Amino acid sequence: MKQYSSLNEVRKDILDGRIVLRELVQGYLDNIAARPDLNIFLEVFGEEALAAAESVQQKMLAGKGGRLAGMVIALKDNICYKGHKVSASSRILEGFQSLYSATVTERLLAEDAIIIGRTNCDEFAMGSSNENSAYGPVGHPINPDLVPGGSSGGSAAAVAGNMCLASLGSDTGGSIRQPASLCGIIGIKPTYGRISRHGLIAYASSFDQIGPFTHSMEDVAAILEVISGPDNFDSTVSQRPVPDYSAALGVRKKYRIGYIRECIENPGLNPEVKQRTIEILDALRNEGHTVEAVDFPLLDYLVPAYYVLTTAEASSNLARFDGIHYGYRDPESMGIDNTYTRSRTHGFGAEVKRRIMLGTFVLSAGYYDAYYGHTQKVRKLIRENTRKLLTDFDFLATPTTTNVAFGKGQKANDPIAMYLEDIFTVQAPLAGIPGISLPLGKNSEGLPFGFQLMSDVFTEEKLLAFSAELMEKFVSK
Ligand code: GLN
Repeated sequence: MKQYSSLNEVRKDILDGRIVLRELVQGYLDNIAARPDLNIFLEVFGEEALAAAESVQQKMLAGKGGRLAGMVIALKDNICYKGHKVSASSRILEGFQSLYSATVTERLLAEDAIIIGRTNCDEFAMGSSNENSAYGPVGHPINPDLVPGGSSGGSAAAVAGNMCLASLGSDTGGSIRQPASLCGIIGIKPTYGRISRHGLIAYASSFDQIGPFTHSMEDVAAILEVISGPDNFDSTVSQRPVPDYSAALGVRKKYRIGYIRECIENPGLNPEVKQRTIEILDALRNEGHTVEAVDFPLLDYLVPAYYVLTTAEASSNLARFDGIHYGYRDPESMGIDNTYTRSRTHGFGAEVKRRIMLGTFVLSAGYYDAYYGHTQKVRKLIRENTRKLLTDFDFLATPTTTNVAFGKGQKANDPIAMYLEDIFTVQAPLAGIPGISLPLGKNSEGLPFGFQLMSDVFTEEKLLAFSAELMEKFVSK
């Protein structure tokens, strides 16, 4: 099957009669079925997607298709879809069905997107390799022995492996941008408060944001226009109107770009990633953009601050999974305390338990001020310093990840090495700003890596326009 890289291409082929939507859906289903070894989908909604294809096709031909008509999309397994299972890749939610749809799901469906299935991820979105899923790891579409990144590894691999046109993931500390980087596609974490979190299974509520994976900036714009904006079910969503991102994509301006010196000079940065990043920055300078190094001495505090705050929030959010209200209950439970203990002990995986314990500790009496309270202040400093830089610069640039995809098992027993995967991606969610990973690099073995741009809160129009320029210039078709 032809690999489509944008919704406009799909639409053109449908309207010109070169393909019918049902065939396209069938093609994606065949691609999914051909690679069970990659373990990308936890469930495929085949019959439903084929039936939806028939009705959307008719609407399209009658000129009545919604804004996402023709888009085949997958949902990360932490986004609710009424009447469908959702597990956050955890045993503790085994068998649980969503009682309502997430706001993003409703908005996608209202604009005629076709949901093809739910994708594997790290349990409760905690991880950077998709090895923390209760349903087994995901393989990288280029080489199944490598990880696709995480935690939205299945969503990224599904798009990279041509099993759907786009997908949604969630990003708390990098879970969209890091797998986008390792899989060679686009992934964006929008501004905190741009998109409703209603119906997203919470990990760390003051960080979590939903965002898309795509091959093209056109599709990023189209999806964001549909899923962003105020929602009565989530009071943290901004009331700001949603801009016409698609129209903004064509804007070309000369920008001020600050690249973070501590990232480029980081000893852990792979030399090929470093070289390509510098090459891109030089080319931008030659084209008349202002490109300067900036210092961000707080870099070393980002990962520790992220892990104190997110584990604290997780320990509170995950308290609801008690063996009574949702999903799994340990069959040998007796009495209330024992039900909680046994269900949580057997229902959660090791990484989730590690984070619940760490989070409970940093919030506990006697330690609260020293850890949680103190780190809130550190977060404020990070946010203020980052936003100050963004008054001098339109964008902050870094590599998305220090390296390309690593081997399955390579970091699984070393939580610190795994946590350092997030070194360049946690700044954006700590500061609440948007960040995007663009597939602008490949190493000598053909493995992809991303280039990250961050901009100030609610400046997605500018971020998308400049990203479109970079995609045009630095991605060979
Ligand atoms: N890899 C990071 C973590 O393990 C980020 C996860 C995320 O963004 N959901 O927490």
